[in-house]
Amino acid sequence: MSDCLFCRIAAGELPADVVYQDEHCVVFKDIHPRAQVHLLVIPREHIESLNELQPEHNALLAHMMQRLPELARQQGLETGFRTIINTGRGGGQEVFHLHIHLLGGGALSGF
Ligand code: 5GP
Ligand code: ZN
Repeated sequence: MSDCLFCRIAAGELPADVVYQDEHCVVFKDIHPRAQVHLLVIPREHIESLNELQPEHNALLAHMMQRLPELARQQGLETGFRTIINTGRGGGQEVFHLHIHLLGGGALSGF
């Protein structure tokens, strides 16, 4: 059994509010939402962060990115959304399984 939190969520070993999944990725609600809509898009494959990306991950990353507009629409984010990928401790990453934050709804704070 993996000791990675997000691997365990992807495997269905830990509960999560899953809104979408396919053979390559799983999308679920963040447990501590920072916006009205706050989803996490993760690959099923364990990749620690952007620092570990390899050329063979290109199609997987594109697949995840291409899911975002439809996910946002399904969540009612008609006017737009924000994506964040934290990388490494200095980048604010807390869970070391690559994930894309999808945020939106209400007034997002400035950047
Ligand atoms: P990071 O700081 O690594 O970019 O983001 C990790 C995110 O995972 C945080 O926004 C945090 O709220 C979320 N998170 C941490 N543990 C869990 C969990 O067990 N379930 C869910 N759904 N989200 C989690
Ligand atoms: Zn993992």
